[in-house]
Amino acid sequence: MISLRAGAATDVGLVRANNQDQLLVADRLYAVADGMGGHAAGEVASAVAIEALDHGFVRSGSLTPDNLIEAARTANRAVWEEAEANPEMRGMGTTLVALAQVEGDQLAIVNIGDSRLYAFHDGELRQVTLDHNLVAELVAQGRISKEEAEFHPRRNIMTRALGVEPEVPVDLFVEPARPGDRYLLCSDGLPREVSDDLIAAILRRLADPQQAAKELVNEAKNRGGNDNITVVIVNVTEDSGVGEDTQLADVVEPAEAKVEKAPAKTGRRFRRRPRPPTASPVTLRVVAFILVLLMILGLGAFGVVWYARSGYFVGLQGSKIVIYQGRPGGVLWMKPTLKEATSHTTSDVLSVHLQSLQDGQQEPSLAAARAFVQRLVAERQEILGTGSPPTSAPNTATASTG
Ligand code: MG
Repeated sequence: MISLRAGAATDVGLVRANNQDQLLVADRLYAVADGMGGHAAGEVASAVAIEALDHGFVRSGSLTPDNLIEAARTANRAVWEEAEANPEMRGMGTTLVALAQVEGDQLAIVNIGDSRLYAFHDGELRQVTLDHNLVAELVAQGRISKEEAEFHPRRNIMTRALGVEPEVPVDLFVEPARPGDRYLLCSDGLPREVSDDLIAAILRRLADPQQAAKELVNEAKNRGGNDNITVVIVNVTEDSGVGEDTQLADVVEPAEAKVEKAPAKTGRRFRRRPRPPTASPVTLRVVAFILVLLMILGLGAFGVVWYARSGYFVGLQGSKIVIYQGRPGGVLWMKPTLKEATSHTTSDVLSVHLQSLQDGQQEPSLAAARAFVQRLVAERQEILGTGSPPTSAPNTATASTG
């Protein structure tokens, strides 16, 4: 019999705002997931995947690689359904690389995405999984070299991820579990910064899985830390027969290491993630803008009405001298209205004033308009000395709506 002993470390890195990686160290099962998606979606995707994987991995009876494949499919459906149920999570997904101890002292490995599993055997490092990204496929097709791939601008484009479709193809690898061998699961934040040669050198130097995991994460951080970094190392050992079947080595990074021996407690909290407010700031700004616009239009209309109705003018209605409220000719849609007719006609004033009466003689008030009429009549009597006597009061007060 063999037993497995694991160590793990994770870090947000130096550039990203939050850690979207998740890891699992559990009974006969180890995994790394690297979530993707805007806002919190990436964190949700990787957390839901890890939880569903652990729950979906049926541990009763003799375990086979199919148990692990089925657990990966369960994880895929869980992330897919979470995204379907939450519109703000649409398009989220995650990588998943997992290793499980199955019957016959074998190790089953599943992979979706570009997280990796390496085997470390006789001091040599070998990548077991194939990256599901565009650049790795170009290398596999011989179209670019491995060196070109390292700096390829499109190396982040994944060709397969967990949770973005209701079904996903799952890569399976089976390795013999030999004492002394070690396995390394990691998110792409590690190989992005640390070469395979350096990873191998650190594994040769540090036999303890926890120390090696921490050292690798620190190395990736020191070399740029451009992405979240997560490392799980599994040492294969002879079973000592003292119940050391699955151990987590001392966890010395409590702040960052999200080691979940009982992930059941952590998953569902994401279902109660608060929804964003229904009225976004954009909508509020639009409403405010419309209100201000309506206010300006209202003030404008009020101003026009005020201006159009504020004055009086003396004019003619046929030969009769009358007083209008409003402006001669009107303002926009506001026509002047007849305020009152006087008892005078054009024959009561000098002909020199007829033109201004036809145009409309503006006065600031009704009283001023009446006084203007009296002045014209008085002027004619003074000069000609004849005609009808002046009348100071109008004979009618005709309010008209025009
Ligand atoms: Mg990553």
